[in-house]
Amino acid sequence: MTVRIPAKKCRSCGWMNLKTRHRCISCGSDDMEEATFAGTGKLYTFSTVYVPAAMMLGKEPYTVAVVELDEGQKITGRMADHDEDRFQLGMKVKAVAEEDGIYIFDRAE
Ligand SMILES: [Zn+2]
Repeated sequence: MTVRIPAKKCRSCGWMNLKTRHRCISCGSDDMEEATFAGTGKLYTFSTVYVPAAMMLGKEPYTVAVVELDEGQKITGRMADHDEDRFQLGMKVKAVAEEDGIYIFDRAE
């Protein structure tokens, strides 16, 4: 199952913005409507954290990832595990869960 990610679609130019945006990062318009990203994309970069921030204590190690969504937007999330041997830049990934507003990604195929 792929988890869809809330978005704001610009009514002026069609760009899919992250839901936290108040203005379109493509054209500056504030005329946006609720939408969702499909939750699929490719792994842009990643890094495994062994010494976490306080809010993540006990969950280390974990792998932080930047995913380029199929809609073109990049989003920061975490990988479902920290086995870096499984990860390749550019590999297809999908959102499989959401924890406290952070999306968890895993290999798509
Ligand atoms: Zn726009």
